[in-house]
Amino acid sequence: MDGQKLNGIVIRAADYKDNDRLIKLYTPEVGKIQAVLRGVKREKAKLKFAAQLFHFGEYMLAARSGGFPTVTGCASHEAFAGIYAGGRPDAYFAASFVLDLTDKATPDREANPEMFICLSKTLREFLKKETDPKTAAAYFTVKCLRAAGYRYKFDECAACGAELRGARRFDAYAGGAVCPVCGGPYSFPVSGAAGNALRLLAAGEFEDLSRLKFNEKEIRETLKILTAAAQYAFGTEVKMFDQ
Ligand SMILES: [Zn+2]
Repeated sequence: MDGQKLNGIVIRAADYKDNDRLIKLYTPEVGKIQAVLRGVKREKAKLKFAAQLFHFGEYMLAARSGGFPTVTGCASHEAFAGIYAGGRPDAYFAASFVLDLTDKATPDREANPEMFICLSKTLREFLKKETDPKTAAAYFTVKCLRAAGYRYKFDECAACGAELRGARRFDAYAGGAVCPVCGGPYSFPVSGAAGNALRLLAAGEFEDLSRLKFNEKEIRETLKILTAAAQYAFGTEVKMFDQ
């Protein structure tokens, strides 16, 4: 393999050796891939922009034997970097949670176009004033679980199929929201309001996201449940952001 062109979003970036940065790109072509940007910590480095979190561009990679591929060029597609510069800490924290979850939900080098679409559409939502960042993060978590193959049910009891009214429970083993009768030993309570929020998020489309409005208490509880679901599904700690 000489060179490879990949469209990718930077989901993780860290200092590497003296002047380099090591990035993780999420791409529709090959899923998650790591690459090194050489010398980008120097002041006048041309590819500095390509090492920023949230950056979306076409990356030119050169393979190296026994090491990470090197980024040799990059053309910007979309300035998700505006999430940084927009001066909205709530959007920044929620968007960082989305990048972290993408990393935890995906193995290296496994293409998942649905996951990529879900990620890029959600990042676009963080640039809209009218979309609530916590709601966007919750929505991403529902869709990310689905793209990774975890189809949690939120519209009816995941165990017996009964209609869910008012307070219910969440049971990751049973596969979603369950009625009080079916809740197993590891299930936990879910208020009627959060249960309804979960149902709406699971049924919704991206076009509706700016119209979904939950109060702070509802969306916090909803995110807590979804974080627990993601933690169970991906077998790794998923930290809820607190902003
Ligand atoms: Zn039930």
